[in-house]
Order: sequence, then C-alpha cells, then structure tokens
Amino acid sequence: MKVIKNFIGGQFYDAVSNNFLDNVTPSSGLVYGTIPDSDEEDVALAVTAAKNAFPLWSQTSLDLKFQILNRISDLINENLEALALAESIDNGKPLWLARRVDIPRAASNFQFFATALKHYASESYLNPPNVISTTLRQPIGIVGCISPWNLPLYLFTWKIAPAIAAGNCVIAKPSEVTPMTAFLLAQICKDAGLPDGVLNILHGTGPKVGSAIVEHPMIKAISFTGGTATGQQIIRTAGPMFKKLSLELGGKNASIIMDDCDYGLMMKETVRSSFANQGQICLCTSRLLIHESIYDKFKADFTSIVGKMTVGNPLDESIKIDQGAIVSEMHYNKVLNAIQRARDEGGTILSGGAKVVLDGELENGFYIRPTIIEGLGPETRTNQEEIFGPVVTLQKFSTKEEALALANASKYGLATVIWSRNTDHIHFLSQGLESGIVWINCWLVRDLRTPFGGIKQSGIGREGGWDAMKFFTEVKSITQVIPKS
Ligand code: NAD
Repeated sequence: MKVIKNFIGGQFYDAVSNNFLDNVTPSSGLVYGTIPDSDEEDVALAVTAAKNAFPLWSQTSLDLKFQILNRISDLINENLEALALAESIDNGKPLWLARRVDIPRAASNFQFFATALKHYASESYLNPPNVISTTLRQPIGIVGCISPWNLPLYLFTWKIAPAIAAGNCVIAKPSEVTPMTAFLLAQICKDAGLPDGVLNILHGTGPKVGSAIVEHPMIKAISFTGGTATGQQIIRTAGPMFKKLSLELGGKNASIIMDDCDYGLMMKETVRSSFANQGQICLCTSRLLIHESIYDKFKADFTSIVGKMTVGNPLDESIKIDQGAIVSEMHYNKVLNAIQRARDEGGTILSGGAKVVLDGELENGFYIRPTIIEGLGPETRTNQEEIFGPVVTLQKFSTKEEALALANASKYGLATVIWSRNTDHIHFLSQGLESGIVWINCWLVRDLRTPFGGIKQSGIGREGGWDAMKFFTEVKSITQVIPKS
C-alpha cells in the first residue's frame, strides 16, 4: 500500500484528524494506497508554515530562486521514470504518454519560470519634464493552487512554479483522484533546497480541504483549474472576500476542417486531438466540424483509423497502447451515461460507444472504446455539455460562416483548431472565434510565453508567461515628481 502524506513546513504528516481516503488505480479499479483526508485544521498548519517562510522567501535573491527552480526541474527529469509510472498508475494514462509528455512538460514549467523570474520587468514612464511613474510588482503572500486529475503533475506545476517564482508561499492541493506525483514532487522540492514552508501540499477532497483553502482569510489568491461548476462555487466564496482569482475551467472545443486543408496531417492530428489521454485534456477537440465536400471521406477514414486504436493496460509496453483507463469509476459512469444520452438524442454511433472489459486483474478497470457520433445538432446536450472523455461528434457545414457559427455555439470558449491552407479562411475564422486559444494547422503546440486559457465559461484570469507572473503579484503604481534643481 502506498501511503501518501501531507507536506507542511518541509515535513510529511498524516491529516490532523487521522482520517484517510482510498487511492484507487483506474486500470484495475483496486485500492493501492491511501491519502490524508485533510480539512481546515491542516490548512491552518500549512498557513502558519507559509507565513513563517514568506519573509525570507520573498526577499530571496533572484539568483538563488533561479538555482532552486532549475534544480527542481532537473530532479523532475532525473526522476522521470518513477514520476511517469506514478502518474500512469494514478491516472490510467498510457505510461509512454506520461513519460513523453506530462513529466517533461512539468520539468519545463519550472525551467521556464526560473528563467522568467530573471527577466520579469516592471514598467517606467516619463511624463516630461519631471514626472516618472513606475509600477512595482510584489509577491501577494500566501496563495492557493488547486488542480485537477487529467494532467496531474503538469497542471500542478503550472501553478506552483510561477507562484513561487514570484516570491509567494503556496498551499497547493492536487486532485484526490491523482495525488501520487504531487507527493513525489514534495520530496523533490525538499531535495532541491526549496526552503521549508514555501510549498505546502495538502491532500484530500475538494469540498473539505479544497474549500478550506478557498475560505482561509490569509490565502489572498486562488489559482484553480477544474470544472466550471466548481469554479462557480469558488467564485461564490472567494468573490466576496475580494481574493484574486485565476480560473481555468471546462471546454467543448471545436475543430474546423476545411476542404482545402493538408488532409493527411489533419487526419493524424485530429485523431490525437480527439483521443489523446482518453480525451481527458481540456484542450481536446470534442466537436469536429467538417466541410460537406469532404465529409463522407473524412467519416470513412476517421472511423477506420479510430476503430483500430488499441485500448488496454496503460502499463503494458509490449504493444503500443493508444488508450488506457478512464480516470475513476465516477467519471467512467459519467462518460458512459453521456454516450447513452447521445443515443437517446438520436445520434448514430459510428465507432466505439461501449465499455471494454480486460482480462484477469484488470477486469474491473474503467475502459471505454474511442467513440464517434454523428447526426446530432449543435443544440443537443451532447454537443453542449462537456463530456471530457473519448467521445467526439461529427457535424457538417457548407460555408466558413456556418463553420464559425457552429464553433461559437457553445457557452465555453477554451480552444479551437482550424485546418485550412487558405489565408482568407484562416483570418476570417481566427478573428471571429470566441476562443482563448486558436491553433491553426496544429494542436497542443505551446509557447509558454503566450497566455493560456479560455474565455466565456472556460475561465477568467489567464495564465501563462508574464500573465502568470503578474497574477501572482500585487502591483503598486508609484509616481514621483523630480524636484527642479
Ligand atoms: P473538479 O472541478 O472536480 O476538481 C478540480 C480540483 O478542485 C480538485 O483538486 C478538486 O478536489 C477541487 N475541488 C472540488 N470541489 C472544490 C471546492 N468546492 N472548493 C475547492 N476545490 C474544490 O475538476 P476535475 O474533475 O478534477 O477536472 C476535470 C475538469 O477540469 C474538466 O471540466 C476540465 O475541462 C477541467 N480542466 C480545465 C483545464 C483548463 O486549463 N481550462 C485544464 C484541465 C482540466
């Protein structure tokens, strides 16, 4: 049994209540460890540790912060195998995916913000002849970082790295569904020389320890990634307390496939953008909008490729596993219910649509075949609600105007992909899309210097690059009039 502990003030503890939660691996549905069932008492201890650490950390030189963050990055890379294995067991994603994408990207988060903190600049404006206005950005103090289960270490570090780079002390909570890599990160940060109390990691459920973090009056900012409904709850609590909020929420992303695209590249990347990580990436495309002139060809080719995708034990490296397990039993049932609802709404299942039962010890794992559905209009619940699993719908359009209207027919606005080689189409669509991120002829290509995040109900307070550093600071405007000599 793997026993996970909280990390407070540089030490490892069980929850004050001495209560525990089971940690289940989705590949078999079996319990393989426990996590602390933390609550507001653990938050109080973490706040004290963070408060004690803040005066020194906020005054630590850029050089030393740079060295420590880089060392954390190096240690993540050095522990890549152990972290990838932990993430695959916790999350159900294929081991190769955790090794190739999630863990290296977590390392690069720390490396990026190590460098960013050295180049982060304030502004200065001269108003002739003798008025100078400057901005002074200072760390907020104690901040809360709450992350989801789909890219556990990557999204956890995406918050923590800029928060500590900006000089804050952090109370962080990973998802209770995927706690293992955060636990390993605690030891890595200790080994890298991060001072005690700068990063405190609490485990447990959202309603209990997550909301205790949001409610604590000394935690001045909350950076949250997760579902839109949870984001609304956080706003209800943190809004009246005037906390700074960055909320990265759900999505229902479209991919617009024009008939002038590079068909081979589009097909390869559309399979990936639809089903990578079992479709459990907030940036996955779940609504494929296809020009009518290539609809039948696309449907035949896509269905054929997806029908051959392998679903199996995420740790099996003897064959290439395309899809591992869905993250938890609760989410598995949610995705299966969504597929049934699509049938009830009149949709036709072109591929998948069923659970997969593996042999032996894995027979109770949470596996679903990649699923393609057609015949549903934009107003259906299937095309409106986030499913966050290996399920995509196909819709047909005849003009770029119609494609734009379909893409925007959602309360969400996270990411959209455009497949076209026609500059007019690309400009028209990218300017009209109600979407925080637009990818043209690619998917998931990220430059960490650009802001990340969605609009509409996909989020507020965008993160990434300077925006993330700015989010984790308070700004003062200082204006001075230089006396005439
Ligand atoms: P979730 O909202 O259920 O949980 C996210 C985190 O919030 C977890 O750590 C959870 O314990 C905690 N939490 C739950 N209730 C809370 C509360 N009342 N107060 C404080 N914390 C609380 O989301 P999830 O199921 O873990 O993740 C899936 C969702 O995350 C999907 O909607 C997906 O689109 C979204 N997501 C968004 C992005 C993005 O960048 N926009 C990235 C990844 C995932």
